Amino acid sequence: MFAEGNPEVLVVGAGPVGLFAALHLAKQGITVEIVDSGVWACKHSYALALYPQTLNLLREVGVLDRLMSNAYPVRNLALCDRNGTRARVRLGDASDPLGCLAVVRQDVIEDMLEHALREAGVAVHWRHDISALQPAADHVTATVDRLEKESRGYVVAHTEWVVGRRWDLQTPFVLGADGYNSRVRRTLNIEYPEVAPAQYYAVFEFETDAKLGDEAHIVFGPGTSDVLWPLPGNLCRWSFQLTDYHDSVAEEMKDRLLRSGFGYFPTERPKDRNEGSENKYPAVLDEKHLTDLIAARATWFHGSIEKIHWRTVVRFEHRLAASFGQHRTWLAGDAAHLAGPVAVQSMNIGLFEAHEFSNLIAGILRGRGTLADLDACGDRWHAEWRRLQGLEAPLQAVAETDPWIAEHAVDLPGCLPGFGAEVAQLAAQIGLVSPPVHSKTAVP
Ligand SMILES: Cc1cc2nc3c(=O)[nH]c(=O)nc-3n(C[C@H](O)[C@H](O)[C@H](O)COP(=O)(O)OP(=O)(O)OC[C@H]3O[C@@H](n4cnc5c(N)ncnc54)[C@H](O)[C@@H]3O)c2cc1C
Repeated sequence: MFAEGNPEVLVVGAGPVGLFAALHLAKQGITVEIVDSGVWACKHSYALALYPQTLNLLREVGVLDRLMSNAYPVRNLALCDRNGTRARVRLGDASDPLGCLAVVRQDVIEDMLEHALREAGVAVHWRHDISALQPAADHVTATVDRLEKESRGYVVAHTEWVVGRRWDLQTPFVLGADGYNSRVRRTLNIEYPEVAPAQYYAVFEFETDAKLGDEAHIVFGPGTSDVLWPLPGNLCRWSFQLTDYHDSVAEEMKDRLLRSGFGYFPTERPKDRNEGSENKYPAVLDEKHLTDLIAARATWFHGSIEKIHWRTVVRFEHRLAASFGQHRTWLAGDAAHLAGPVAVQSMNIGLFEAHEFSNLIAGILRGRGTLADLDACGDRWHAEWRRLQGLEAPLQAVAETDPWIAEHAVDLPGCLPGFGAEVAQLAAQIGLVSPPVHSKTAVP
C-alpha cells in the first residue's frame, strides 16, 4: 500500500541503485516511495563486486556487517595474459578490513538493501510501472500503473500482465533508477547514444577446487578482456568476451530502432525479474566451449569444473546519457550509463550517484540547497563517465611503463575498479598516469 499523502521523493526502479537511494533518503527522514515494474526480486549474481569506497556507503546505511558476512574479499587484481600474471594491483591497505573488493552476488546485495528498507518502514511496490511523468514548477506528476494478472484467450487460455489500476501522484522529486531502458530517461527525451561497440560475454559460474586466494584475474588477449572472480562457497565465475558471437535478434532489433530514428534505445538486457525459461542456452555456453576458452586464453587455470550453477550470454552495450536529468527529475545507475562487466562500474558508480543525488535532494527539501546543486552534480557525473568511457583524457604510459601494460593502457579504464582519484591511484601502481579529475569528496 502507498502511504497516505504524496512522498517527498519517488524512486523508480528497485535494482541496487534504486534500493540504495530509497534507503539513504529514508535514513535522512525523507518520505519516499519506491516502485518496480518487475514481478519479483532478481535471483542471480550479475554485478558481483563492491569497491572499497562503496563499502563505506553501505556502512552509512547500516547494511555493511550483514553484507561482509556474505562476501569474499579480494585484495589484489592480477593482470594476466594466457600464460600467467604480468602485473598486480593492490586494492587497499592490507591492515584495513574494508580495503578490498567485496565479492557478493547482486541478488544478495538487493535482498539486504530491500530488507533494510523494510526495517526503515518503506516497502518496495513490485509490479508497479511508472508510465508517464509530467513536470511542473514545484513538483512532478507521476502516473503509476499497478500490473495485475488476467486470464486471456479462448482457444488457448493463458494469463497476461495488464494494468489493473492507474493513478497519479505528485512528488517534489523523482529519481529514475529504472535501468537500461529507463522510462524516466525517455520521458525527459534524453538521448542515450552508444559510445563504443557492444561486447558479448559468456558467463559461467561453477563449483571448483581452484585456490584463488584473495585475487581476481583480468586476462588480456588479442581484442579480449576476460575476468575470473572467486565467489563465496568454492564457486568461481569466468566471464569470457566473445569476439565472433552475434545475437541476430538483438542486432536486428538495434538496426530496426536505428532505421526508425531511435538510436538511443538499448537492446534488451533482461534480469530474471519476470517469468521465462532458463533451460535453453546457445552452444557457446556448453561446458566443452568453457574448457576450450580456458585452454586457449588461461593456460594457468587448472581448477576443476564441477557443477555449473549459472551460465548466460550477456550483450554489454556502452552508452552514456546526454545528461543525468533536469530540474526535479534525475537519473542514476544503468538508467544513465551502460559499461562493460569487468570493473563492475555501472552498479558501483551508480550507488555513488544515488548517494549524491539523494543527499542534495534531502538538502533542498530541508531548505539547505537549490536546484542548481543538482545541475552541477549531474554535470560532474557526466564528465566523470566521459572519462571512464574513454571519451577523453585516457590513461597514459610514460617512458618507464612496462611495455605490456602500455599496450593495454587503452583497455584499463574499463577494468580498474574505481573512479576519479581512486582510478588514478590504482593506475599509478602499474606506471600509468591519469590526468586530474574532480574529487567525489567535493559533494556533501
Ligand atoms: C545477465 C546479466 C549479467 C550481468 N553481469 C554483470 C557483470 O558481470 N558486471 C557488471 O558490472 N554488471 C553486470 N550486469 C549489469 C548489472 O546488473 C547492472 O549494472 C546493475 O543491475 C545496475 O543496477 P541499476 O539499479 O542501475 O539497474 P537495474 O538493476 O537494471 O534495476 C532497474 C530496475 O528498474 C525497474 N524498472 C524498469 N522500468 C521501470 C518502470 N517504468 N517503472 C518501474 N520500474 C521499472 C526494473 O524492473 C529493474 O528492477 C549484468 C546484468 C545482467 C542482466
